[in-house]
Amino acid sequence: MNQTVAIVTGGGSGIGLAITEKFVQHNITTVIVGRDPEKLHQAKQKLGSLCVPIVADLSDLEAIPSLVKQVITQFGHIDILVNNAGINMKKDFIEVTNEDFLKVIQTNLVAVFALTREVVKAMLPNKKGSIINISSMAAQYGIPKVIAYSASKTAIEGMTRAMATELSPQGIRINCIAPGFIATDMTSKAFNADAERKNKAMGRTPMGVMGTPGDIGDAALFLATESSRYITGVVLPVDGGNSIGF
Ligand code: NDP
Repeated sequence: MNQTVAIVTGGGSGIGLAITEKFVQHNITTVIVGRDPEKLHQAKQKLGSLCVPIVADLSDLEAIPSLVKQVITQFGHIDILVNNAGINMKKDFIEVTNEDFLKVIQTNLVAVFALTREVVKAMLPNKKGSIINISSMAAQYGIPKVIAYSASKTAIEGMTRAMATELSPQGIRINCIAPGFIATDMTSKAFNADAERKNKAMGRTPMGVMGTPGDIGDAALFLATESSRYITGVVLPVDGGNSIGF
């Protein structure tokens, strides 16, 4: 079992792509999952043969067991899972429909639960594994107009702690990373269009600048590997000091 195998959901873009890049640089075979085949194809072109795309919509819970089976059939085992795929929805609270709320929860929480369960089944016989859930500052701080997103990320952190108590005795560690303001296409576009919003966000960030996707990649690599062998059940903020207050 020499080859280290990871799954990174949403590995075709933004933070997920940066995590995949770090893993590949450290010789970790990394299966990336997303809905858009073109995004995944471009990631593979960039990162080479250790990057293995699988097209899947994780909000389709029925598709998850066969996705995990496909990875096991191809590689024999899974060592690392990064639950990074996520969607956001910005709307006034009273405008959020039941369907809106359920859509965000389905992708950001229920799919994470279902995929993690299937991956843990594959990890248990090896008594070894590291799972990393990408949370957000929105789990701990009230941010207006992102109701379902905040609910999903807070739930992920609670689920992580509960799972860590149950799975750590079996050799499986599970942790969260809570990114602050990270310069992905999405956030850069929003900040470029609204300088006041960017200034406000940076004013609340002691380090005064946005993080890069690579900063999250470095943290994920640390939590994925033996360098963090005695760490489980934590939420690691990677946020330029945002969470300590100012
Ligand atoms: P992106 O929109 O670039 O990445 C999201 C990824 O998730 C995409 O690759 C997308 O791929 C994938 N995805 C979304 N829905 C599904 C689905 N149903 N099935 C499979 N894949 C899916 O955003 P970021 O890189 O910024 O965000 C990554 C994570 O980091 C998210 O969980 C986000 O909440 C978190 N985060 C980001 C912050 C930031 O500042 N950028 C701050 C805090 C947290 P595709 O479209 O191909 O399906």
